[in-house]
Amino acid sequence: MTASRLELEQITCRYGETSVLADISLTVQPGEFVSILGPSGSGKSTLFKLLTGARRPEGGSMRFDGQTLDGTIRPFAFMPQRDALMPWRRIIDNTTLGLEVQGMRRAEARRRVLPLFSEFGLDGFEQHYPAELSGGMRQRAALLRTVVQDKPMLLLDEPFGALDALTRASMQRWLEEMWSQHDWTAMLVTHDVREAVYLSDRIYIFSPRPARVIREIIVDLPRPRILDGAARARSAEIEADILDTLFNAPNDATTTNPEEPR
Ligand code: ADP
Repeated sequence: MTASRLELEQITCRYGETSVLADISLTVQPGEFVSILGPSGSGKSTLFKLLTGARRPEGGSMRFDGQTLDGTIRPFAFMPQRDALMPWRRIIDNTTLGLEVQGMRRAEARRRVLPLFSEFGLDGFEQHYPAELSGGMRQRAALLRTVVQDKPMLLLDEPFGALDALTRASMQRWLEEMWSQHDWTAMLVTHDVREAVYLSDRIYIFSPRPARVIREIIVDLPRPRILDGAARARSAEIEADILDTLFNAPNDATTTNPEEPR
């Protein structure tokens, strides 16, 4: 069996008195697309804060390629929930930002990103400002900025959450196509069941806060994900199974009004 790329063991995390992550153990293998699916407020974004070093867990261990994640290694390219493009920077300068932060000269960073503009559907928009682009284009620009950093693993926090349903569906399709062509490893946080099934190889279902992994689902759909015939029926079956699990999840939380999963 291959070694795990990312390995979390019995992670716990709390904000003051509030336990957010109760006991999270999970793995991501090289080349895998893994989703974390759970109700809003269950602690999914908190998990990313732990991975990116913005917070430290109270207990448990986190390893990447066998090395402890203690702030000395930075293997993740993180795409936050909102597009987080800087409104005053042109698209080209937004997409080079991650590389510039890593110390690359702007001219070299531009040479790296420019050939990717057409694949990301952004051809001709290099000199535009974010406000001049559609929501879907802004998200593609944010994803371009993330993948171009060439980190071993992508962390995607609800990347399409702010988009309308149609744009969202077309972005999911686009991302899946990109996924099938590139050798990426990714972890996606979402509360959208269909999105998780469509994009993932495996899904961990979180309980309401304090989060535990209540189930791990292997999505046995062929790639690329052309959902016709048997694949469409199988996908609907997996979605129904996940919804059952979420609705029957034990709720020992004191959360206020968590959103229902879609
Ligand atoms: P999710 O991403 O699943 O929606 P989060 O990880 O953002 O959930 O939040 C999990 C819980 O932790 C929520 O109930 C939220 O209110 C609480 N929380 C998040 N950030 C903080 C903070 N800085 N201080 C106190 N509580 C927080």
